[in-house]
Amino acid sequence: MQHRGKEIDVVWFKRDLRIRDHAPLAQALRDGRRVLLFHTFEPEDLAHPTTSNRHLVFRWQAWTSLCAEVNALGWPVKTAVLVAPALDVLKHLHNSEGISALYSYEETGLAHTFDRDKEIARWARENGIDWHEHRQQAVHRGLKHRKQWANDWHKTMHSSVTTATPGPELKRFEVPDWPNAWCCAGAPSVTHGMDPGGDGPFQKGGEREAHRYLQTFFEGRVKGYRRQIGRPLESRKSCSRLSPYLAWGCLSMRQVYQAYREAEVPRAKMDLKAFGSRLRWQGHFIQKFESECRIEFESVNRGYADFPYNGTPESLEAWKRGQTGIPLIDACMRCVTETGYLNFRMRAMLVSFLTHHLDHPWQAGVEHLARCFLDFEPGIHFSQFQMQAGVTGINTIRIYNPVKQGLERDPDGLFIKEWVPELADIPIESLHAPWTQPPMERLWSGVESTYPEPIVSVEAAGRAAREKLWQFKRTGAVREEATRILRVHVAPSPLD
Ligand SMILES: Cc1cc2nc3c(=O)[nH]c(=O)nc-3n(C[C@H](O)[C@H](O)[C@H](O)COP(=O)(O)OP(=O)(O)OC[C@H]3O[C@@H](n4cnc5c(N)ncnc54)[C@H](O)[C@@H]3O)c2cc1C
Repeated sequence: MQHRGKEIDVVWFKRDLRIRDHAPLAQALRDGRRVLLFHTFEPEDLAHPTTSNRHLVFRWQAWTSLCAEVNALGWPVKTAVLVAPALDVLKHLHNSEGISALYSYEETGLAHTFDRDKEIARWARENGIDWHEHRQQAVHRGLKHRKQWANDWHKTMHSSVTTATPGPELKRFEVPDWPNAWCCAGAPSVTHGMDPGGDGPFQKGGEREAHRYLQTFFEGRVKGYRRQIGRPLESRKSCSRLSPYLAWGCLSMRQVYQAYREAEVPRAKMDLKAFGSRLRWQGHFIQKFESECRIEFESVNRGYADFPYNGTPESLEAWKRGQTGIPLIDACMRCVTETGYLNFRMRAMLVSFLTHHLDHPWQAGVEHLARCFLDFEPGIHFSQFQMQAGVTGINTIRIYNPVKQGLERDPDGLFIKEWVPELADIPIESLHAPWTQPPMERLWSGVESTYPEPIVSVEAAGRAAREKLWQFKRTGAVREEATRILRVHVAPSPLD
């Protein structure tokens, strides 16, 4: 296309809501003349069953804080936040002003965002627009094996962070009017009617908030990380809580990794090491999703396609509402519904209970928890769900006993009592398994009328699931697929 003089360079922010260490932004500021930064809430996203209002509010907060920083820096650029399909926004701009180049990160997203990106790539090609799509945190599109992956991850983490500086050509300009229906003065809401609700407090979106969490973690919260990471109550402080900031891109993993390498926290060497060793899992899982995105819908191991499940709609509902009669399960579900956060072990236990004890396929719960987790990250979420459901064929089968987990991880029952107040008066000896309470005590405590009986026998359901899973793991189809998965998704030597 001919340069018409007033064309715009467009930076499209997706799951990368930051201005620091943002390569597409840095490139556009350096090379562009009239630069527009935009973020859009796409109708398809608002209707998607993995989206919840907490995600939209977080994105809104992150975007407004990004704009405030841009203003404070005095950059001569324009910003826009809209409710419209990204392709429509681009077409509108191109028809009115012309777009000279589009800048963004590659997104390892859900099927509908991948399809959208393919359509935008086609449209940009047809209209002679260069789309500078930058690689996201050591995740490679089209990767066939992991031989170089770990090395590349380390190289990326050690490379310099990008700094955006306005170039000499940058000029102030006016953007065209947007259609009224696209404008929004606050976070939009989901349109699917399955929002988990929840009053929070949710972590607040934005780059500044992200750096605050990073700073306080290395100033001291990291002490005790190893001991507390498995505990539902203590982990809320001792874990970094960086996940929503990484998931929505208020921080890059490189920034976190470099802060970790520089951190000096007295008497926390082993805690720091344990934290550092987890960071690469984020990229590992996102790469896995990038290489095999069908796992949004199917188990990575195709041998499990016919695995028989017999869960009932009632048990699924009880799981979602935190009404299973198993105290730690209910406490975890109620907590994540209200606050958007749960530590790794308790997430794993919720999925284990759903798929093993209640006998549901992982697909039955994956969207519900995606909506609950403020840090919903497709790459991690779908893989982790399948690992915990025991349908990869390459991981150890783990069936968590929620009573045992409660005794180990919440020995004083503080977490359970906070989230299941119906059990507040139960003595600690029976708290983790109220059905073991002597009948008279049970009557006096009044628990019978306020808290449900357990919907399954933890022991018997766990045993049955174990037998079924082990039988299936030995089938030819599962083993064949396991070999393929190891070849494609696992590094030939340990990652470090
Ligand atoms: C069923 C299930 C679903 C999950 N879904 C998500 C999700 O949607 N988004 C998400 O960010 N995490 C997910 N996780 C992984 C993990 O639970 C969270 O990353 C972690 O609890 C976030 O808390 P934190 O930031 O305080 O973690 P920290 O322990 O402080 O770790 C720092 C960062 O390292 C990365 N990380 C740590 N552990 C893991 C892990 N096991 N796998 C991948 N990355 C890891 C994350 O980016 C995390 O923010 C899931 C785990 C399970 C079992």
